[in-house]
Amino acid sequence: MSDDQRLTIALSKGRIFEQTLPLLEAAGLQAAEDPETSRKLILDTNDPRVKLVIIRASDVPTYVQYGAADLGVAGKDVLLEHGGEGLYEPLDLRIACCRLMVAGRPDTALVPPPARGRLRIATKYVRGAERHFAAKGQQVEIIKLYGSMELAPLVGLADLIVDLVESGNTLKANGLVPIEHISDISSRLIVNKASWKMKHARVRALVESLQEAVEAQAAAGR
Ligand code: ATP
Ligand code: MG
Repeated sequence: MSDDQRLTIALSKGRIFEQTLPLLEAAGLQAAEDPETSRKLILDTNDPRVKLVIIRASDVPTYVQYGAADLGVAGKDVLLEHGGEGLYEPLDLRIACCRLMVAGRPDTALVPPPARGRLRIATKYVRGAERHFAAKGQQVEIIKLYGSMELAPLVGLADLIVDLVESGNTLKANGLVPIEHISDISSRLIVNKASWKMKHARVRALVESLQEAVEAQAAAGR
């Protein structure tokens, strides 16, 4: 089997894997194992030319950028933070949908406290947050966190957070409210730029099948 026939697709466990699987299946690809129960990081598929690699969501663009995977599925949030170098983003898969939002305590004043010149924003999404406040002409101090952002305003680490919101239940459970909408987020198919050229026919065929699957899902109202 020549190299240009092989494809490696990078996915993360959890919602992205679960929601990508039906699209891959519609495109004729089935995973040989379930990553939630298997400890394997490389999974075979029903097509001997196609393998899946299972990695952290935020690592997917890096694997694809360097060509360790030809394709991948990554949230727009992750792509905004990564920057998208070395990648094409040919298809919105319309899965793992949520919103990037500014949130805080209901009584938060949107101006910095008198003792400080700038509002403090805790977030995992540093670029997204910087871009949002810069566009509003507001100078802020960004505090990078890796998770549980909701805690930051409760313990005085930050005035506001920038986080992904789906139902709003996590915010609500912590006494926080959404304050500003930054952007709508969904997961995208990404392709390594060299793979796009070198494996064009194979990649194009997969992108087209996935696009049909996305449209069929949308038509079915899911
Ligand atoms: P890691 O666990 O490696 O830190 P992560 O928490 O971003 O990464 P997931 O929770 O699996 O990983 O999220 C993967 C993607 O799904 C995110 O990048 C985002 O695009 C989307 N996502 C995250 N949270 C939600 C949510 N509450 N509702 C819908 N989609 C979400
Ligand atoms: Mg998560």
